[in-house]
Amino acid sequence: MLKKWLHKVLPGKHGRGVRKQIIPYAEHRIGADMISFAAEKVVRRLHNEGFQAYVVGGAVRDLLIGLEPKDYDVATDATPEQVRKIFRRSRIIGRRFQIVHVMVGPETIEVTTFRGGGNVQQNEHGRIMKDNTYGSIEQDAERRDFTCNALYYDPIRQEILDFHHGTADIRAKKLVMIGNPAARYQEDPVRILRAVRLSGKLGFEVEKDTAAPIAAYAGRLKQEPVARLFDEIMKVLFSGYAVQCLQQFRKLGLPEGIHPLLDALLKESSGGIAAKALENTDRRLRADKSVSVGFVLAAVLWPQFESRWQRKISDGMKPAAAMNAAINDFRDDIEKGWGVPQRFSATMREIWQFQPSFEHRRGARPHRLLAQSRFRAAYDFLVLRSETGSADAELAKWWTAFQHAGEEERNGMTASAPQNPEGSGKRRRRPKKKKLVVVIGE
Ligand code: ATP
Ligand code: MG
Repeated sequence: MLKKWLHKVLPGKHGRGVRKQIIPYAEHRIGADMISFAAEKVVRRLHNEGFQAYVVGGAVRDLLIGLEPKDYDVATDATPEQVRKIFRRSRIIGRRFQIVHVMVGPETIEVTTFRGGGNVQQNEHGRIMKDNTYGSIEQDAERRDFTCNALYYDPIRQEILDFHHGTADIRAKKLVMIGNPAARYQEDPVRILRAVRLSGKLGFEVEKDTAAPIAAYAGRLKQEPVARLFDEIMKVLFSGYAVQCLQQFRKLGLPEGIHPLLDALLKESSGGIAAKALENTDRRLRADKSVSVGFVLAAVLWPQFESRWQRKISDGMKPAAAMNAAINDFRDDIEKGWGVPQRFSATMREIWQFQPSFEHRRGARPHRLLAQSRFRAAYDFLVLRSETGSADAELAKWWTAFQHAGEEERNGMTASAPQNPEGSGKRRRRPKKKKLVVVIGE
């Protein structure tokens, strides 16, 4: 009891007592005009209605670092119902943690009510099951994950409230868990994936005590709903910093068996097909270009899939039939067991299914393939395979040349191309019925 009380009043292990620091504009240099129009509007409106409201979380952290925030979160002392009443275009979502989505123009702002007090429901493993009790801003800060995520920006006063030395940790490029790291991972194991993603994205070192329990608690991720794991893995893959995140995964010692997508990534060597796809994805995202989720997943899972495909070919099946059979075997795993939504797995399947067709370079078929809607993605995939030794470089070159050639040159190419692989692709001709020619007259 005494220990518990001392823990509350004395500063933490690192001299990190809970003491509010107010960081003025002169120090942080974040002007109200630097946050999104929608976030500022939501904060002002809540203020005008007599509530406290701050921009919080990743947006403040990213602005301090000089990154462009991905989205904006607002924290307030208004309850979800009160927020819902203030904003016409809003809706309450979530059960475990209720939040309100407020729509302003094309933007959606996530508004959360300060959490705190007791009454957190935990299961026998210490995992938080429900947390909808509301508290003060200090309590809210204590429930956030990392110190750099517990900064509250008031755009009206242009001040940052910092309860856990977050600004100092950002300056030192350190990711530090608030409170006891082991207990916080126990409460919510997904914080482990967040530690990996944020340290990779921000280029931060995970502070020693924050990193230490990760390997031991990572196994608990297996009990998380697969859809939540899939979402977090997607955030890693499409963070724009996937390659660095992967390095963090290895460094922090995540074990195998958490999710097959993570296993595929952990097994990947640096020059492999997934690594190449992720390098491309990072480059494109940082240049504000679009990326195809299905394509990236097709690359990440290709090595696992390719060995299934090849096994069926060695068992005597033709490449295209082996491909379809392997896809059928794999489909349930991907959609049901791994939480990949159908819209992404459909793209993956189409890209894979296309691959054996590239072997057919004779006759009319190559012309037909060019016209198919999936051609471009499937061809890009073939190039990626050829760069990583999973397809013939000569084959990929042929298809590059074929696309750029004129009509006549294309005809020449298909006439002189190597024979199509045996059996597949060629339509079996029905024996022609002999026509009876009746010659009239003469
Ligand atoms: P980004 O939006 O750049 O991916 P973020 O830190 O803003 O990163 P969000 O998922 O938007 O991530 O969460 C917003 C904030 O909510 C976080 O900054 C953190 O303060 C808090 N938060 C999110 N997930 C957790 C969690 N599992 N445990 C504790 N706090 C969390
Ligand atoms: Mg965010």
